[in-house]
Amino acid sequence: MLDHTHDPKRQSFVPSANGHPDFPIQNLPLGIFSPGDGAPRGGVAIGDKILDLTEALAAGLFTGEAAKAAEAASGAALNAFLALGAGSRRALRLRLSELLAQGSPEQGKVEKCLHDAADCTLHLPAHIGDYTDFYVGIHHATNIGKQFRPDNPLLPNYKYVPIGYHGRASSIRPSGEPVRRPRGQAKPPDAAVPSFGPVQRLDYELELGIWVGPGNDLGEPIRIDEASGHVGGYCLLNDWSARDIQAWEYQPLGPFLSKNFGSTISTWIVTPEAMAPFRIAQPSRPEGDPAPLPYLLGEADQREGGLDLELEVLLLTPGLRDKGLPPHRLALSNARHMYWTVAQMIAHHTSNGCNLQPGDLLGTGTISGPDRESCGSILETTLGGRKPVVLASGEERRFLEDGDEVILRARGRREGYAPIGFGECRAMILPAL
Ligand code: CA
Repeated sequence: MLDHTHDPKRQSFVPSANGHPDFPIQNLPLGIFSPGDGAPRGGVAIGDKILDLTEALAAGLFTGEAAKAAEAASGAALNAFLALGAGSRRALRLRLSELLAQGSPEQGKVEKCLHDAADCTLHLPAHIGDYTDFYVGIHHATNIGKQFRPDNPLLPNYKYVPIGYHGRASSIRPSGEPVRRPRGQAKPPDAAVPSFGPVQRLDYELELGIWVGPGNDLGEPIRIDEASGHVGGYCLLNDWSARDIQAWEYQPLGPFLSKNFGSTISTWIVTPEAMAPFRIAQPSRPEGDPAPLPYLLGEADQREGGLDLELEVLLLTPGLRDKGLPPHRLALSNARHMYWTVAQMIAHHTSNGCNLQPGDLLGTGTISGPDRESCGSILETTLGGRKPVVLASGEERRFLEDGDEVILRARGRREGYAPIGFGECRAMILPAL
């Protein structure tokens, strides 16, 4: 999977791309954007520019498989592109890397198809048919389990089943769109009866999102050895959570209104090819843990199905903004803390014949690391609100307040390769209606 498109010495004629923290020429993520008042269309991020695929096609810059992929990516949603799978996606990547490289013979034509990203609006990159949220961050599962069930943090199925539930696709929004504090029913532990009102314990969840690629027909499971071929790309996902609603509603059927009022994703689809340098062996399970059942155990998947990807949570409050202070880093975690691989999530999801479709979105679940500085939710960081976070502005946070902005970032880094990022996953909390 590694080729000259990953060469760290490769430079783009777009000056801002060289050394760009997110979008150097080694990344080339796809998204849906509108230039100015223009209609939504497919594009590729390169430094602080966006390559317009519709214009590039019209300029005759693609042929063969690459043209097929560019056409599939030039509409108002990337579902058709995600459906194509690895072959066409690689052909497009090779051609994009050539077109945008320093010394590209097509530089003049390509420059006419570039827009300033700052003048563009980014949209959801695909129509999300279904959204499933897993729970593969074992440190998160343990930390949360301790708060909800002190005697029994990790339920006995956790190490056998990639636990998940069906989420709500309709309320997923692109980075930048604010989230309104929901109202809901909750029952504080010291109250005799529940009440209804604005939630008090509003939280974020640091997750990796997985875009489904080709997918499967109903009744035809995806085997573990084929599962990675059904990953169309990656994004960041903030699965906003109302902990007071959650604590009251979650038994017996799991989360419902505590989760479905909004989720925020980063707008660029980072391809599996761009992520290739950051694949690692799945970290071995702690001594004494059971091996995955055979349908979840793939030799190649164990060898290279893990991900080494830094994941960061930042908080920008009204107080920090007023004083001109930078966002406060709440956590630095890593995708290597996933107990199950992405392929295991896909193999399990489809093991009963359930069909995944191009543009479906899977969330990994909150990816916390082992310590307080790597917790992927504020519920964990503040121990359920008991130990507040103190900010440089003098403010304290037990949970999120109105006007707070949560910013997620991801960064792939490996010796000998160019670092890449995902772009921000960012949203501000608006007061409840
Ligand atoms: Ca979640």
